[in-house]
Amino acid sequence: MHVEEVNPDGSVKAASELPFGFSMMLPAFRGIKPLMGIEGLVNPRGFVIVDKHQQNPTFKNVFSVGVCVAIPPMGPTPVACGVPKTGFMIESMVTATALNIGAMLRGRPPKHQGTWNAVCLADFGDSGVAFVAQPQMPPRNVNWASSGKWVHAAKIAFEKYFIRKMRKGESEPFYETAALNMLGISKLKQVVTD
Ligand SMILES: Cc1cc2nc3c(=O)[nH]c(=O)nc-3n(C[C@H](O)[C@H](O)[C@H](O)COP(=O)(O)OP(=O)(O)OC[C@H]3O[C@@H](n4cnc5c(N)ncnc54)[C@H](O)[C@@H]3O)c2cc1C
Repeated sequence: MHVEEVNPDGSVKAASELPFGFSMMLPAFRGIKPLMGIEGLVNPRGFVIVDKHQQNPTFKNVFSVGVCVAIPPMGPTPVACGVPKTGFMIESMVTATALNIGAMLRGRPPKHQGTWNAVCLADFGDSGVAFVAQPQMPPRNVNWASSGKWVHAAKIAFEKYFIRKMRKGESEPFYETAALNMLGISKLKQVVTD
């Protein structure tokens, strides 16, 4: 694999070749074709524009969650790159969206906001990295990371736990909420209303 490292101005700083047996490269993401170019709904890359309630400002009956949400980059980079979107962050978007749609159906305005916190076990096959970033987009209140073989084991355990709860149709059992609360990790922002 040919790898180029670039300077802040985009010029090549170093080039190297990496031997590999199996390799994965993620191309730049973009939105789906049916949404491309709809004024007020998506940005030029086809990602859906949302406000803090996950609601599109132009089409109020459209909410968006997950990878397809438009999140502006943190700043200029020499090579265009997107903002990472992880599972827990997306669960927080989904929780806020479900509550907001429920509120609207009851004639109330949407007020719930996801924290967009990130809690992640990234498995490398024999080891891995665990991190907590609250919120995922800087400036952060919590920035913690740890690596080792335990992450690989923890990911296997989590996968079994996750699939079991999905099979049971329970997205967030009370003990999961209690454990996350104890760790100070929440899906919803405390919104002060007057
Ligand atoms: C290699 C990799 C590793 C990752 N590791 C982690 C991790 O360890 N921890 C973590 O928290 N996050 C991780 N992530 C990120 C996480 O997987 C994603 O953020 C998450 O899956 C996004 O969820 P989503 O529902 O938004 O989109 P997706 O999970 O991509 O779901 C979108 C679905 O829409 C379907 N779809 C697309 N177009 C159409 C269409 N036109 N009509 C109908 N259906 C359509 C797709 O088939 C897909 O099933 C990883 C991502 C990748 C790529």
